[in-house]
Amino acid sequence: MSPSPLTPVDLHGQVAIVTGASQGIGRTISQALAREGLSLVLSSRNEAKLNALAEELRAETPSISVLVVPADVSQADQAKALVETAEKTFGHVDILINNAGVAQKVSLLQEHTVEDIDRTLDTNLKGPIYLMKFVLPGMAARQSGTIININSVAGKTAFPYWSVYDASKFGLHAITVAVGEEQRCNNIKVMGLYPGAVDTPLWSGLELNHTPDPCGMLDADTIAETIVYVLKQPGKVYIPEITMTPLQPAL
Ligand code: NAP
Repeated sequence: MSPSPLTPVDLHGQVAIVTGASQGIGRTISQALAREGLSLVLSSRNEAKLNALAEELRAETPSISVLVVPADVSQADQAKALVETAEKTFGHVDILINNAGVAQKVSLLQEHTVEDIDRTLDTNLKGPIYLMKFVLPGMAARQSGTIININSVAGKTAFPYWSVYDASKFGLHAITVAVGEEQRCNNIKVMGLYPGAVDTPLWSGLELNHTPDPCGMLDADTIAETIVYVLKQPGKVYIPEITMTPLQPAL
């Protein structure tokens, strides 16, 4: 008997790249995907943190394969090498989670340094673009694949004092929608996830004039479980985007 069209997909053995895996949302997504039995390619710039996570995941789920590939996503050559290493090791890539991102100064635009502006746009926008560009040929050849771009509510609503971050995430929204339409014919799903505030180390690096209440924020686990839910949808089901926010404003 053929499976019901609504039977959740078994993710066991699928190959996923997770960027920004060393902490926060990316680390929690990696833990959730490991529990589902995926083969994982963990990437960020901090190799020591990635190795520690890889050891933790191998200890918890000895049957899974975990590869650590340090890379700065803002550098096209490193993004290319990340995809090539994943494909060489596992033969192909089923899933790309474009999660790596930075939020820097919360301030008027004129108070940002040029370096801050470049770093935010290069990491949050050019990084995911590079990775999509390099992973798509393999996915198109196999007529299969899923790309999830971790965006933000700031990719849909421009918040004052977050202008450069807003711009990076609006750009990411645009390319997610456009590439999503381009790739339907290749059976590739490209989705954007747009969370509100999530309790991660990202907030401790920001200069804010008030301390946000982490109790009101979403948990990274909620984001990770949502991604597992999306990935388990049957092949013909396409969820182009999900927006999720705390019920009460956290900021
Ligand atoms: P986080 O705790 O600060 O983690 C950011 C991750 O990105 C780290 O693993 C960091 O690792 C990696 N990273 C930063 N720059 C990188 C680069 N150039 N190349 C490769 N990796 C880089 O932040 P988070 O809260 O988990 O955020 C993850 C994503 O969710 C971001 O895209 C963020 O915009 C988005 N988001 C967050 C929130 C929130 O409230 N936290 C809300 C909406 C959306 P290394 O330092 O090791 O490179």
